[in-house]
Amino acid sequence: MIIVMTVGATEQEANDVRDQIRALDLTPHDNYGTERVVIAVLGDVGPIRDHLMSKLSSMPGIESVTPISRPFKLASRETHPEDTIIELKGTKIGNGSLTIMAGPCSIEGPEMMIETAKAVAAAGATILRGGAFKPRTSPYSFQGLGVEGLRYLAAASAETGLPTITEVMEPGQVEVVVEHSDILQVGTRNMQNYSLLTAVGKAGKPVMLKRGYGATIEEWLMAAEYIIAAGQPNVILCERGIRTFETYTRNTLDLTAVPLLHHLTHLPVIVDPSHATGKRWLVRPMALAAVAAGADGIMVEVHPNPNEALSDGEQSLTFDQFRDMAGAIRHIHDEVRTLIKDPFVTDGPAKVGGTSKH
Ligand code: PEP
Ligand code: MN
Repeated sequence: MIIVMTVGATEQEANDVRDQIRALDLTPHDNYGTERVVIAVLGDVGPIRDHLMSKLSSMPGIESVTPISRPFKLASRETHPEDTIIELKGTKIGNGSLTIMAGPCSIEGPEMMIETAKAVAAAGATILRGGAFKPRTSPYSFQGLGVEGLRYLAAASAETGLPTITEVMEPGQVEVVVEHSDILQVGTRNMQNYSLLTAVGKAGKPVMLKRGYGATIEEWLMAAEYIIAAGQPNVILCERGIRTFETYTRNTLDLTAVPLLHHLTHLPVIVDPSHATGKRWLVRPMALAAVAAGADGIMVEVHPNPNEALSDGEQSLTFDQFRDMAGAIRHIHDEVRTLIKDPFVTDGPAKVGGTSKH
């Protein structure tokens, strides 16, 4: 439920509303960024909706009370109609600009990290990526350089001025990752690791939540809800492909997710064609398609010598390939910017999980 206070409502009137919500064992959550006070009611409103509505109807200073139909409340556009815009060291995500996150799958050493950072910065990357804690399918594969890797990432950031993103795999790593990186990444394998979602939500830095490879859009948004409910409003969603019966590609890139998410949520949407396809030559066309579908940006893996990469070499771009792709997606972005439709406009209500399967 969303309560919009009138423009002239007093702080006392808003406090009375918050107290009334608490009195029914629910939680009031203030929504900032609008000219009025907007209070979302969190908790199981269902059984006491009528009772709460009648209590609120006699209170002064309230302009409207609207039930939220989605199970994700804070992440939904109903609660927060304006796009969430994240500002980081001079770059903005979600404001209509094109975010380009690029860097190696794994940070392998100081030289390759700096060299890659300089190359992607010169070619137009806006955020530097690099994995230090690596979730690998095999326990015998390279597991990342850990804290040492984080230091190389921070040094490359200082050298290029690019803000950084890196994965955090468990709550115990959150503190050290926060010290070294501007954005925390939650990987596909951890999308439903609820203690990790709560820990990153409390860490005070923006979080990029990758879609679980077997997760529905609704499960993904519920995972984002955990992070926002824990205190972090700046959540970025990253579509990185889901598992289907197809085996030519590493995953299947679900680009429908892009306009669908823009309709359902105010959070920025990034597409990762590297993990989605697993093949270097498929990264460029799918990056172009992602931007054409309205993505706020992309994340791609880049390596000085992909054939010798310690992880994900087959899907990593060379510096030249990255430069070429970055130019192409900027071109598409300039073209499609004015063509993307308002996320509110659909042919009917979005039915999450409600479509029939054939
Ligand atoms: C990554 O970005 O390095 C990564 C491991 O991605 P995902 O969690 O999407 O597999
Ligand atoms: Mn990778």
